[in-house]
Amino acid sequence: MRLSLVLVFCSLWVSCQQGPATSETETTDTAEVVQEAKPDTITDAPDRLPEDWIDIGVYIPNVEVDIRYATTDNFVGEVMYECARCLLREHAATALLAVQDELQKQGLHLKLFDCYRPLPVQRRLWEKVPDINYVARPDKGSMHNRGIAVDLTIVDDQGMELEMGTEYDYFGPEAHHTYTDLAEEVLENRQFLKAIMESHGFQGIRTEWWHYSLKESLPELSEYEWPCP
Ligand SMILES: [Zn+2]
Repeated sequence: MRLSLVLVFCSLWVSCQQGPATSETETTDTAEVVQEAKPDTITDAPDRLPEDWIDIGVYIPNVEVDIRYATTDNFVGEVMYECARCLLREHAATALLAVQDELQKQGLHLKLFDCYRPLPVQRRLWEKVPDINYVARPDKGSMHNRGIAVDLTIVDDQGMELEMGTEYDYFGPEAHHTYTDLAEEVLENRQFLKAIMESHGFQGIRTEWWHYSLKESLPELSEYEWPCP
């Protein structure tokens, strides 16, 4: 009788001890699995981006990506991006894909000079050129810092840029949409770019023929910096 009571007590005690112990082990195992998964995700970078960012070079494979801030061939003459990537928010990416599809039917395609620009880069640009005529104030930000702006032109089936009258990032009246003392071909090309971008929801700015941003979208300014290989 005493023995059976002791056995029952022991049995209960053991099961009580085992219960939480097993549960704790499972919890710990799960936690370890989760913790192990994180480095894997990071290891998979740079192909993986946060959900709300689209890599245009992958999403629209027929565009030419010539990101000038990843080179010294830009108006500050210094490398500002660690590597060249064109990222956009999803809505802007979808709209740009529609532009490229339409151009491709005419044997043309897009060439992209700049897309999303992280705020830390905007601050470094501002330190170098603190002039609102050339660089947006970082506290106010630009559409590039929101991931909905692109600097771009059109190239033909030989990879030649259509004549637009000035180089990209030329700061002067000749780059303005309102400047008309240009060859007829240049005016037509600028109008062609403007019309196709506007038909897919983008809008330009007066002073830069190459700059367009999505009209019906205003995501937050972003600090996100893309990974490099
Ligand atoms: Zn721009």
